[in-house]
Amino acid sequence: MDIHSLLKTYFGYDEFKTGQEKLIRGTIEGRDVLGIMPTGGGKSLCYQLPAILLEGLTIVISPLISLMKDQVDSLNEIGIGGTYINSTLDQSELIERLQEIREGKYKIIYVAPERLNTGFFINLVEDIKVSMVAIDEAHCISQWGHDFRPSYLEIPKFINSLRVRPVVAAYTATATKEIVEEIKELIGLKNPLESIIGFDRPNLFYQVVKVSNKFSYLIDYLKNNFQKESGIIYCATRKTVESLVEKLNEGGFSAVEYHGGMDGNLRQKNQDDFIFNRRRIIVATNAFGMGIDKPDVRFVIHYNMPKNMEAYYQEAGRAGRDGEPSDCILLYSPSDIVKQKLIIQNNNLPPNRETMLYKNLQYLVDYCHTNDCLRNNILAYFGEIIENQSCNNCGNCLDKSEMVDITIETQKILSCIYRTEERFGVNMIIDVLRGSKNKKVLGLGLDKVSTYGIMKEYTEIALREIIMTLVSKGYIYMTADKFPLLKLTSDSLQVLRGKIKVYHKKHLVERKASITGKEL
Ligand code: ADP
Repeated sequence: MDIHSLLKTYFGYDEFKTGQEKLIRGTIEGRDVLGIMPTGGGKSLCYQLPAILLEGLTIVISPLISLMKDQVDSLNEIGIGGTYINSTLDQSELIERLQEIREGKYKIIYVAPERLNTGFFINLVEDIKVSMVAIDEAHCISQWGHDFRPSYLEIPKFINSLRVRPVVAAYTATATKEIVEEIKELIGLKNPLESIIGFDRPNLFYQVVKVSNKFSYLIDYLKNNFQKESGIIYCATRKTVESLVEKLNEGGFSAVEYHGGMDGNLRQKNQDDFIFNRRRIIVATNAFGMGIDKPDVRFVIHYNMPKNMEAYYQEAGRAGRDGEPSDCILLYSPSDIVKQKLIIQNNNLPPNRETMLYKNLQYLVDYCHTNDCLRNNILAYFGEIIENQSCNNCGNCLDKSEMVDITIETQKILSCIYRTEERFGVNMIIDVLRGSKNKKVLGLGLDKVSTYGIMKEYTEIALREIIMTLVSKGYIYMTADKFPLLKLTSDSLQVLRGKIKVYHKKHLVERKASITGKEL
């Protein structure tokens, strides 16, 4: 049977989704493949379909133990023999399955990475022909990625231990260059056929919201949008998850919590309550979500900023997998940046690694401050070429806020950075501009510089907003350090000379700015 007939007969689909056919053909021809597709892009089919055609067994390595059963059940339903091996099996079940695998009852087996190099598994694969090893969530091999699993590093050893090298197919939804390179190198893909599928999710409406009271914004949002439908609210800490769930339930919303510190059974129950629509809202840390296939999530709200664009895209991308319009809203507050920086600092990482994390974080901070199309900003991060200037389906493209000329404000800020010799970070520059009398400012004699107190009338928060916006536009460069310094760029000079005009949303830069950074 050709692959189109197989697609129809087994999976019931008439057409391949973008990228699937190329990857499937590559696999059948015996080439290693690397498929980079956004969540919901249809990665599973790319290894399930060739598995039917290939002669021996396909081993799927997946970190998502909780999903293996579902995947295998669906395969069996459509007539493809599949099973799984993970820590949920007891000894007798395990022995039975191994026997069945030996007897050739299955075409596909799902295996947790920890099992691969165990004695019984090695024994098993010595006796049978393994045609393909498919690695799901392949980015878990990257120590620099957000889902690192040490057991993934064992995969190459396992592949090398096989008598005949199988086709190796790696799949991920993570597309940053560094991680893609690492996947290829660490797994040892041989001249792989690569396919990167578009990261645009046209049905997702992206928005960044800057409000003084996130909770009241949230309540209004929940009352006014998607009343009876499902959504995820992501928070940075377990504590915030717990307090938010409590407040939402007190307010009459049906919410459950999910975080890594909870009892496993309760966590599973909450997840199921959400997936099966018994509860409408799940409030979670980033522990929730990988592999969750709930198609009708109508909104993903980030109550706190995640650690980088990669994580944001993944988490926000859990909205609207059914293609229906859905919202991805990030509630911004400057204190979230501080929290994320603390997390980086507390990890005692090598300096180059730390710099990379600061840079990654900064990209997301820039996203929160750009006035340009948010969708394009995300796609640019993933290296996609952008044809349209605006998508007309994001908070910025639809924003009708009045814009004001902030060229003079910008020039004052840039002068201050220049006068203080590019030696300070945001806080100090704000203090100098506002004429603070704090000890550090006075001690360093910064009250003597000509820009001291020239923006007295601005709130700290309005100044911070302007500075961060200038960073996002490239008019100021912020070093990627523990204590980042503000520096001038070649564009700063153009602004100082009046060759470039700068605009920003009026309500964000008004002297009595509405943002206070206060939370809950
Ligand atoms: P991913 O692992 O990339 O997040 P999945 O493999 O779970 O995505 O697929 C997402 C959804 O798309 C599933 O519901 C799957 O059945 C569906 N799907 C996969 N391939 C096709 C296709 N060719 N046509 C229509 N739907 C498809």
